[in-house]
Amino acid sequence: MISQNAIDTLRRTEIGARGLFIDGVQIEATSGASLPVTSPIDGRPFASIADGNAADIDRAVKSARKAFERGSWSRSAPAFRKKVLTKFAELVEKHADELAVLGVRDNGTEIGMAYKAEPLSAAGTIRYYAEAIDKVYGEIAPTADNVLGLIHKEPLGVVGVIVPWNFPLMIGAWKIAPALAAGNCVVVKPPEIASLTLLRLAELVSEAGLPAGVLNVVTGRGAVTGEALGLHMDVDAIAFTGSGPVGRRLLEYSARSNLKRVFLELGGKSPNIVFADASDLKQAAVVSANGIFRNSGQVCVAGSRLLVQSAVYDRFMDELVAATTRLKVGDPLDLTSDVGAVSSAEQLNKNLGFVARATEEGAQLVTGGERILTETGGSYMAPTIFENVTQDMQLAREEVFGPVLGVMRFETEEEAVRLANSTVYGLASAVWTSNLSTAHRMVRAINAGVVHVNTYGGADITVPLGGVKQSGFGRDKSLHALEKYLELKTAWIAL
Ligand code: NAD
Repeated sequence: MISQNAIDTLRRTEIGARGLFIDGVQIEATSGASLPVTSPIDGRPFASIADGNAADIDRAVKSARKAFERGSWSRSAPAFRKKVLTKFAELVEKHADELAVLGVRDNGTEIGMAYKAEPLSAAGTIRYYAEAIDKVYGEIAPTADNVLGLIHKEPLGVVGVIVPWNFPLMIGAWKIAPALAAGNCVVVKPPEIASLTLLRLAELVSEAGLPAGVLNVVTGRGAVTGEALGLHMDVDAIAFTGSGPVGRRLLEYSARSNLKRVFLELGGKSPNIVFADASDLKQAAVVSANGIFRNSGQVCVAGSRLLVQSAVYDRFMDELVAATTRLKVGDPLDLTSDVGAVSSAEQLNKNLGFVARATEEGAQLVTGGERILTETGGSYMAPTIFENVTQDMQLAREEVFGPVLGVMRFETEEEAVRLANSTVYGLASAVWTSNLSTAHRMVRAINAGVVHVNTYGGADITVPLGGVKQSGFGRDKSLHALEKYLELKTAWIAL
């Protein structure tokens, strides 16, 4: 684990102006323009990034295509890719302190969580796909005796990666690592408010021996660089994590350009369901509070709708409020903070808008509901709980992506299932019960990509992550994700 001393030294490091990373080197944006990087810790600018445009995306895609065609990566032996990516994982681990603090200065996640979820998790993901790639076989088809049917697995070509600001390294690695392992060349478009760690990652990958042009990073505004990547005629696939509206645009870009394939990991409004027979209500309350409030609720799988069975409602709410008010919100670079800053002032205002609307619509505020620590100049929000939330309220239907929990009661299992599935989303969920049959019935009945049982959140690289309905399609993580970045080719040989 990182020490407070190391954090305090690294938090003062000068970052300066960061360029684009194209063809293995840092360069300025074509326009020469840059964007300031403001820290949500204190509201002050501390660096700048290049404000890329469509011409920069084109440069990056051309570099990636040239690298792909050169073949020094795309046609290299899987054992070579494994060696380079393993070195890459080691370098990410070696620089974990630096990457973690840099990321927290950028997006405000509490360092305890960021350290594990960002560099360490990214390193683990890179190592996982490095180790997997020399174990992927093609197939021989069960044909008639006079032919040989071979099924080859090949890289797609140039893959565009677009990620959000909550965990740019972890989510970036979920896409970059399998894409690279499969032999693709990649152009990454980081989130404009948290680009710094992905830029640093690109430098490390070069140090690991990845040929120039195989990984490029173009920073800038989503509506400019993201759109240019989505519309580019020479990009073969886009792997995206972010909001529903941008996901829809990417599908349109694909339809308007070259029909590139698009993988979407979108938002959620995940139900966390507590049955009266849950074995340890106190533990369930603590985990549930963490499951919505860590990283200020800016977690795609956050359990933002809590459904509690009436028989234990009051007891559970007492435990939940106690667990919530114990959470220390503060400087994300202080190891004693449980919850850091909201990623930006804009996001904080958006969260407060949800609070105002929930109050107007008749939900009852139990705790929180306001901006705190204003004297720091940063964006901090008290963990917020509303009860008496009904299905027609905005808080029950729309994703806040902030530390705001809506609570509902239920009587029966059928009612819990109905409420759980009454959403356009289907990303995550949880069920707390000591009855094995209830647990298995709920796993089948809930329409979501993941159902946690007697826990919330938490998963490792061995299992897929992704949603159903408007939470998107395509899966990150596990060997299933590797398949997304491999194309099948048939060879039909007359013997
Ligand atoms: P966002 O959709 O605003 O931005 C995501 C990325 O898309 C950013 O890099 C942004 O610059 C880029 N972008 C913006 N406009 C674009 C355009 N017109 N064309 C192409 N790219 C564009 O999302 P956000 O605010 O960064 O992140 C929050 C959202 O991400 C939430 O909805 C959250 O649930 C979701 N999310 C999902 C997962 C998951 O695994 N399912 C994980 C984390 C976050």
